[in-house]
Amino acid sequence: MLSDELKKEIKTYPNFPKEGIFFKDMLPIFAKPKLYSRLIEQMASDPIFNQCDAIIAIDARGFLLGSSIAIKAVKPLILARKPGKLPGDLISQSYNLEYGSNCLSIQKDSLDAFKKFAIVDDLLATGGTVSCVSKILETNGRKISGLSVVIELSELNAKANFDFPVRAQIQL
Ligand code: AMP
Repeated sequence: MLSDELKKEIKTYPNFPKEGIFFKDMLPIFAKPKLYSRLIEQMASDPIFNQCDAIIAIDARGFLLGSSIAIKAVKPLILARKPGKLPGDLISQSYNLEYGSNCLSIQKDSLDAFKKFAIVDDLLATGGTVSCVSKILETNGRKISGLSVVIELSELNAKANFDFPVRAQIQL
């Protein structure tokens, strides 16, 4: 099964980037093109991508997934980026991370043509990052068809905070 093959590639680093965090490193998946391709195939086939007008991928590992899904699902791709990376008028929102805090920005005019978005990231932990993006979208009158991630840290039950579908290829 795909989920078992993906699990085999994910390495856990205890106490990274800080004490008490079990960092799940999924980068080995991207070094296996056939597995990466099957993962994208599976993620892109989700109805949340048919139901959206555009995809928002979250900095930075979310870009590796979101850009490939956008090509496969033939949907426009928009990036939510960390501070100092995007030019022009931005909509920004700060948030708390499992290990710290940060801020994400989206270019204001990149939302203009679209009403409904699917969000893509690598991993769902506390849900702070995705809440940040959903806040940007919802406060600007946009809708969300769903969230797609590779890994959900299911013990944290972040999906209980969202009123849109959450799809994860693996629960850890
Ligand atoms: P959160 O906002 O708590 O849901 O955290 C999700 C974001 O932080 C994702 O973009 C992940 O890349 C990263 N992240 C949080 N916790 C972990 C973890 N245990 N292992 C790997 N990445 C993590």
